[in-house]
Amino acid sequence: MISKLFSISNYDEIREFFHEKGLKYTPQRQAVLKVLQESKSYLSINRIHRNVKELLPGTGLATVYRSLETLVELNLVVKVHLEDGCHSYATAPEGHRHPIVCTDCSRVIQYTECPMEDLSKKLSKDTGILIQNHFLQLFGKCKQCQS
Ligand SMILES: [Zn+2]
Ligand SMILES: [Zn+2]
Repeated sequence: MISKLFSISNYDEIREFFHEKGLKYTPQRQAVLKVLQESKSYLSINRIHRNVKELLPGTGLATVYRSLETLVELNLVVKVHLEDGCHSYATAPEGHRHPIVCTDCSRVIQYTECPMEDLSKKLSKDTGILIQNHFLQLFGKCKQCQS
C-alpha cells in the first residue's frame, strides 16, 4: 500500500504530486477531490457528478468517471465495493484502515485496529503465499440508522 506523504487538503502539494506524475491537476480533478473531501460518507458516481456540477457546471459524467479513475490510480481516492455490486468513492484514509460502511446511510468509519495480522501470518504459513497486504471492509447499520 502506498501511503500519501502529504495532506490532500493542501492544494500546492497535490498539484506538485500530479506534476511529478506528468499529470495536470485539472479543475475537474480538483472538483471531484473537493466533493469527496467534504463528504463524510462514500459517494456514488452519480452523486459526485451532481455535486461537481454545482462547482463546475457542464461537467459530464464521463469526465467525472475519468477523473475518479485517475485519482484512484494515484491512491488519493479509494473505490469501495457495496453490497449491491455497485461501488462508491471516498478520499483515501491515511495509513492502514478498515472501513465500516453503514448500508443505510453510507456513513463510513475508518477503523484503525487491524485484526488481520495473525491470520496473515497463519495463511502465509499454511499456503506458502507470503501475504503482503489485504483489503477488509465491513458493513453494518450505524447507531442513527438502528433507531
Ligand atoms: Zn447509517
Ligand atoms: Zn488490516
